[in-house]
Amino acid sequence: MKKYIINQAIIALGSNIGDSVETLNQALKNISCLPQTKLIQVSSFYETIPIGYTEQPNFINAVCEIETTLEPNELLQQLQHIELKHKRVRNIKNGPRTLDLDIIDFAHQTIDTENLTIPHPRAHERAFVMIPLAEILPHYIFKNNQTAEEWKNQLNQDGVQLLSI
Ligand code: AMP
Repeated sequence: MKKYIINQAIIALGSNIGDSVETLNQALKNISCLPQTKLIQVSSFYETIPIGYTEQPNFINAVCEIETTLEPNELLQQLQHIELKHKRVRNIKNGPRTLDLDIIDFAHQTIDTENLTIPHPRAHERAFVMIPLAEILPHYIFKNNQTAEEWKNQLNQDGVQLLSI
């Protein structure tokens, strides 16, 4: 019989096309309804200036913590299904998107397959991930034995503002 282990995972959400606040709220509802998965907590929403390809609208970003008995690749598939529901189109790298869902970490595992890299290789360089992660889990160890709070404090935080609704 298959043994189900409950694992903690961190997901980053981002959107900069359409009503991004509504998209993130819908995506969080979708995540809370995933099979074998419990939504534990969600950060505030942040408005962030795009990095890389800068000729595009600001993003709304957030991070959530889940507990799941899904395997990492099953979780990725489920998240990609949610992205598709929101008609995500991938064209320009780092370009505009209706919804982007990234698995930032999965039970502190190291995974390096064609489809999935855990921990997310660039999350610690991104203030729009480390600021919301440090808000909900400041002591969360992420890469190099450093906490989310420590990573956040090493980053330029100028482009990331708490969203005032
Ligand atoms: P992006 O367009 O930046 O969201 O990248 C999506 C692609 O990244 C998908 O093909 C995924 O298979 C791959 N990928 C690799 N690692 C991750 C991860 N930790 N979370 C989400 N997608 C990932």
